[in-house]
Amino acid sequence: MRWGTAAGQESLFALNAIGKRRWLWWAICWGTAVLLAAPLVWRWFAFQGPFGPVAPPRPEPVIDIHCHTAGIGAGESGCFVSNSMRASYKFNLYLKSFGVDLGSLEAQGDRLIIQRIAERIRGSQWVSGAIVLAMDGVIDSEGQLDRERTEFFVPNEFVYEQTALHPGLFWGASINPLRKDAIDRLDWAHAHGAKLVKWLPSVQLFDPGDDRHLEFYRKMVELDLPLLSHAGQERAFTHVNDEFGDPFKLRLALDTGVRVIVAHIASTGEHEGERDTDRLIELMGQYGNLYSDISSLTQVNKLGYLREAVSHSVFRERLFYGSDYPLINTAIVSPWLFSLNLEVGEMRRIAGIENPWDRDVELKRSLGVPPSVFERANRLIMKPGDLVSVRP
Ligand SMILES: [Zn+2]
Repeated sequence: MRWGTAAGQESLFALNAIGKRRWLWWAICWGTAVLLAAPLVWRWFAFQGPFGPVAPPRPEPVIDIHCHTAGIGAGESGCFVSNSMRASYKFNLYLKSFGVDLGSLEAQGDRLIIQRIAERIRGSQWVSGAIVLAMDGVIDSEGQLDRERTEFFVPNEFVYEQTALHPGLFWGASINPLRKDAIDRLDWAHAHGAKLVKWLPSVQLFDPGDDRHLEFYRKMVELDLPLLSHAGQERAFTHVNDEFGDPFKLRLALDTGVRVIVAHIASTGEHEGERDTDRLIELMGQYGNLYSDISSLTQVNKLGYLREAVSHSVFRERLFYGSDYPLINTAIVSPWLFSLNLEVGEMRRIAGIENPWDRDVELKRSLGVPPSVFERANRLIMKPGDLVSVRP
């Protein structure tokens, strides 16, 4: 009896254990299924589609007005990056996104980065040309380059000489207006075919609203050189003064009549409790000579801004196509970030495109960026002769 009871209890216990195990298994299966299905169900309800009507490409050249290069001084380029930038994890990521490494740069010179840009532009189905940007540094009280406080420097002469070697590449000068010889540099840039002047005031550490720049602005108007200026928050560098990224600080240039292109709709920053993009929108309503570009707006830290650029009426007829290369070639940009706007097959197709410019154009086009944005530089920045050398 005792044995029988013990055996009975044991088998009851064993049955209980099997039951529990089954129940646990069942719970795990269902739990996993629900976890996997939840985003799909949510996507099904929340799917919004593109930000605007998707138009087929047109047979007009597409020029990227916002393309960066860099260098470490190899091959006597005159470029440099600060020690803090070199020590940063970003340094190797940037080299990789440019398609180079330290060894190949040291062996072949900084010109290799511009060669890579030229190869990739030549290999692009959709982009015919790019304006490669020089990058001036911080200027000291004597009006000279302050190497200690400059994080990243790309001289105008280097970019001019290297882009001249490749059809389809154009260049944008960078001149800190605090330089003693700023006006002479502007004249030189214009005489050597610069398409625009690029500023990054929050990193070059000057106030665009400073009255001392009036003469510089007047000269830009005389030479008909547009200003591509960064506004909003800057996070690509380690030392930044975001105060100088306030779009309102560009009023002086606008009042003087300079054509100003504010990079990436002044995304992510804030001044006086107001979003910089809202400040830009306010300025757009006041100045007909103000434009913007769509560079960097597909980055993970800027979700929502491309929708704003495409759908806000103030930006209609005022946007240029820009890539912010090489950032389009890093993990912070991906079609998979737009799962509520693109079909799965479309995201997969775009992610599989190897050429960084084609991937960028196809992503932006599929999200509803209109053809006019891709063509605007042809009318407002390029001269008719420029486009003869590039494919449509
Ligand atoms: Zn940029």
